Amino acid sequence: MQVRVRQGDTLSYYSRLFSIPLPILMDSNPGIDPIRLQPGQMVKIPGFMTESYEKRKGDTLQQIAALKKIPVDSLLLLNGRDYPGYFQDGETVRLPVRIKNPLVKRGVPYDFSALSDDLEKLRATYPFIRIETIGYSVLGKPLYEIRFGRGDVQVHLNASFHANEWITSSILMALLNTFLLGLTNGTAVRGIDIRPLYYSRNISIVPMVDPDGVDLVLNGPPEAMEEEVLKMNKGSRDFSGWKANIRGVDLNNQYPAKWEIEKKRKEPKSPAPRDYPGDAPLTEPEAIAMADLVRKNDFARVVALHTQGKEFYWGYEGFEPPEAEIIARRFEKESGYKAVRFIDSHAGFKDWFIQEYKRPGFTLELGEGVNPLPLTQYEEIYEDMLGLFLASIYL
Ligand SMILES: [Zn+2]
Repeated sequence: MQVRVRQGDTLSYYSRLFSIPLPILMDSNPGIDPIRLQPGQMVKIPGFMTESYEKRKGDTLQQIAALKKIPVDSLLLLNGRDYPGYFQDGETVRLPVRIKNPLVKRGVPYDFSALSDDLEKLRATYPFIRIETIGYSVLGKPLYEIRFGRGDVQVHLNASFHANEWITSSILMALLNTFLLGLTNGTAVRGIDIRPLYYSRNISIVPMVDPDGVDLVLNGPPEAMEEEVLKMNKGSRDFSGWKANIRGVDLNNQYPAKWEIEKKRKEPKSPAPRDYPGDAPLTEPEAIAMADLVRKNDFARVVALHTQGKEFYWGYEGFEPPEAEIIARRFEKESGYKAVRFIDSHAGFKDWFIQEYKRPGFTLELGEGVNPLPLTQYEEIYEDMLGLFLASIYL
């Protein structure tokens, strides 16, 4: 929602009028000098939308405000009026409405276009989040990163490193949306006060690492690469088993953490729907973008969402610090998933992160069954993940 500044208005006044913390308001309006608002200038108010209301005969603005539990001045501001008497009967009045429900799509097939729509909605409603492009997929799709928070502790989460695990993108976006609702409404989520986390954390979310692969699984092959992709898939048009990027490289087998072991032992010796580690570490643009993102930042921990198995991996070759175990125990309690320290696997994103930085890194295996998991598991996975998601931020 946007309002037009009147003479004498300040951001701190808007903060009180709409009960939105001043720093969140400032971050929603980065180009605006908070102490010198210019009359006529537009200011974004996060977490609100407007609703039309037809003023009936005899209604007073005070009555409408009282009925809707909003300050009279918020009505004047939104409708560009100086005092209540200016409203006529039958006139449409714009009302500010606090958004209390999620905006992102839940429990539906979630391809790159669904993600892009949701990001646009979140950007418009929660302008304090920044949406960065950290690189491009093989087919040129932007790899989006959502960033917000004023704190020093950087926490990174990502989803859909694997194409047929696209449900993780949708889950991560729903979790993000819940967090944003907690921020603008000042409400607790699972008993956790969300607002203080805005000041103590800096959150990085890459919701879809492999958008080309996700679109292949959900929508079929792109025209430009149809022949190659069908060949890799042995002529089949069923792409539900596809984990790799569009070039047939498994992005979570691309990292320089004993990559050679995976290269040697993985079955495919050429690009394939799954498990091919590439000709060398970090050859694929999606894997490179993620490595660059880590190198450019100072992530305290990273969490990668995969499916399936209702367990998660928190160690790599003993490089994980003691706090990783403390976090793992907490994750276990919050989700009911099983904490597993080591598995016989290398070259993954979290393996490389733990090896390089000696900081906690986690690979989560959401839900249970055969990938791609059916959407009937959506709400259960969301509920399992909510406490773990919050813990990954506040711990
Ligand atoms: Zn996976």
